[in-house]
Amino acid sequence: DKRLDRVKETVAAIPDFPKKGILFRDLFPVLTFPDVFKGLISLMSEYVKDAHPDCEGIIGLESRGFLYGPMIAQELNVPFVPVRKKGKLPGELVQVTYQLEYGTDTFEMQKNSLKPGQKVVIVDDLLATGGTMAAAVELVQQVGGIAQCGLVVIELVDLKGREKIQGTVKSFLQYS
Ligand code: IMP
Repeated sequence: DKRLDRVKETVAAIPDFPKKGILFRDLFPVLTFPDVFKGLISLMSEYVKDAHPDCEGIIGLESRGFLYGPMIAQELNVPFVPVRKKGKLPGELVQVTYQLEYGTDTFEMQKNSLKPGQKVVIVDDLLATGGTMAAAVELVQQVGGIAQCGLVVIELVDLKGREKIQGTVKSFLQYS
């Protein structure tokens, strides 16, 4: 697909960021080209329409899932619901603590943010170890929703993140 080729050409690879030995994949350059970004959003939206025609909501993960999630939700005409880092959301919450490379982090979601049985797709920019996406799947289940799929632009395949996640993961670009 031409749209994916354009995204692939535009993604940046930054060696030794945020620390030595890590090759950081940066998707922000994609957003500097409106046509490339539009193409990516249409690819992601088309995937959800085809693979999950009964999708009833898009969940976005703080922070870079917030760049793609609301745009896909608009395309599909379904609600967008955020998953945020601890302490950012008001009201009654559910939370999940997950493993980072060093230490842990906590994600939260509002208790009444999904209807019982609501089918949703979870969006983030990149899948690495899978800890972030797995935590989001757990949160969706805690608030009574059904996670149809984890949707990311980039998957770092060597880290085998998808093995941590119950259900399907769809990625558009794979790097080792
Ligand atoms: P995981 O929990 O190890 O799968 O890490 C995924 C999370 O870390 C995502 O929310 C990404 O935004 C972020 N992340 C990890 N590695 C990279 C990278 O190379 N580029 C951009 N984001 C990354």
